[in-house]
Amino acid sequence: MRHERGRSWLLLGLLWLAVACRGAGSLAVSSEPFAISTQPPDVSLQAPTSWPTVSTEPVATNTQVPGANLQPPGSTPTVSVEPLTISPQPPDANLQPPISIPLPTPAPLFLAAPPQWQALAALLPLPWTLRLDGAPETLLEAGEVDAALRPDASGTVVWQRPLALTIPFSLDWQEVTMERAQTLLADGHGLMLPLPWDEMPADRRALRVNGRSPANPAYPFQLSWSLHAAPGRTLDELAAALQAHLAPAPVVQLTAVGDLMLDRALGWQLRQGNLEYPFARVADLLQAADITIGNLESALGDVGEAAPKRYPFRAPPEAAPALALAGFDVLSLANNHAGDYGMEALLHGMELLRAVGIAPIGAGANAAEARAPFITSVNGLTLAFLAYVHVPVEALSHFDTASWTATAVSPGLAWADPEQIGADVTTVAPLVDLVIVSLHSGYEYVEAPSPPQMAAAQAAIDAGAHLVLGHHAHILQGIQFYKGGVIVYGLGNFAFEIDGPPETAILNVWLDANGVRELELIPVIIQFGGQPRLADPAEAGLIRQRVYYLSTLLPRQ
Ligand SMILES: [Zn+2]
Repeated sequence: MRHERGRSWLLLGLLWLAVACRGAGSLAVSSEPFAISTQPPDVSLQAPTSWPTVSTEPVATNTQVPGANLQPPGSTPTVSVEPLTISPQPPDANLQPPISIPLPTPAPLFLAAPPQWQALAALLPLPWTLRLDGAPETLLEAGEVDAALRPDASGTVVWQRPLALTIPFSLDWQEVTMERAQTLLADGHGLMLPLPWDEMPADRRALRVNGRSPANPAYPFQLSWSLHAAPGRTLDELAAALQAHLAPAPVVQLTAVGDLMLDRALGWQLRQGNLEYPFARVADLLQAADITIGNLESALGDVGEAAPKRYPFRAPPEAAPALALAGFDVLSLANNHAGDYGMEALLHGMELLRAVGIAPIGAGANAAEARAPFITSVNGLTLAFLAYVHVPVEALSHFDTASWTATAVSPGLAWADPEQIGADVTTVAPLVDLVIVSLHSGYEYVEAPSPPQMAAAQAAIDAGAHLVLGHHAHILQGIQFYKGGVIVYGLGNFAFEIDGPPETAILNVWLDANGVRELELIPVIIQFGGQPRLADPAEAGLIRQRVYYLSTLLPRQ
């Protein structure tokens, strides 16, 4: 049902776009509450006629959960039948014949709207009737209708969407000023396409306007439709009904990072009680998301013996509350270090995470547990998380991570067998809105994804996953837009004392019921000792450009 609604608004969006491309008419930009704008408050940009007004006013009245309210026309209401009890009464000689009192029929009220709002006919509360007309305002002025729907924010706003200034994902252009954005909208630009934010495909990004993204309620460009009433007419009930039906689709902001290795210097800090230290410089970004996920690249706790491999890692028990404090909600354990202190330590670490409210994925007491999704509801959307590992045999120690694969009767990890991933995703996809797969795979320090890594990631998308979040290579890799899904092959290290390139990133992903709407890379530098900090502007440009470039090397399918 959400998908059907998405399509109808897509048509609406395309209609605006068509009008926009013709470049006629007026697009009013009300700039008043926007502090940084240098425009006087009453400036109007001249642009397409039937574009809704772009205003800075958010809709304040909508408290409904969107998405669940649109009934398809012609759906049959459920009738609840009360059991009928007949008690035999003796005939009563004094019974008066029933008097029939006609119920008053409310006079119909008319709402005029342009033809593209035909779908409103099924949504109007009684006694409202829809009258489609190319000039609703004229009908209202002539007294022929009781209300009119207008493409602006000057009445009671019933529909509002951010208008995103979209560019190709891999174009290194991040931000414009309000003034420049107004010029771009008025004059057009070969690489910039204005689109309602909810119609933006994942392989495009929205330019920040004075630092604000369309996800920010204070984003300055909003497409709006509002109700205008005939004199003396109140529209509260109609407005409330339309606001409920026309509310924006729910969006979840997910934040993802790569390897978290809280042994070595970071582990020492934790053991001293400095729980905030590892993420002190980035925690506000991790906490700002609706849901935050990373890869815990070590054992966790204080039990077990080190496995005979080159770099056995174990984070102290204090790492669990530190990760929760930093904002993590989900952590993958399907990697080549979660079993470094044995299977008992693996299960013990999972208990420590659960005790602080973090969901471990990709590991468990048996294969079914290791492959079980973590399912959670956020902002009215249901998300399933799965995690898998597929890494080569270690060159020097000959350690094979595949030996940690959980079986029907023994604990371990979920191995990234494409067929198995496909089966797991196929099972969970119909039960949830979104499927997100964590994949620890690839060759260390190689930017190109490995063949097994690509096969596993693509199997997940082929089976219905919307997003694959990769790591293991210790460096950033490219992003592939694949069959409607998004594969982020490598997020690199994140909090990790390691002798490797310090460049990494925080990935922000906005998801709606159709999948990934927008991706944003926030460049980060891992400092000496393993603590991540935000990159400065010069560092940030190079990090983004590298990922954009690597992404252009991956074929779009
Ligand atoms: Zn790894």
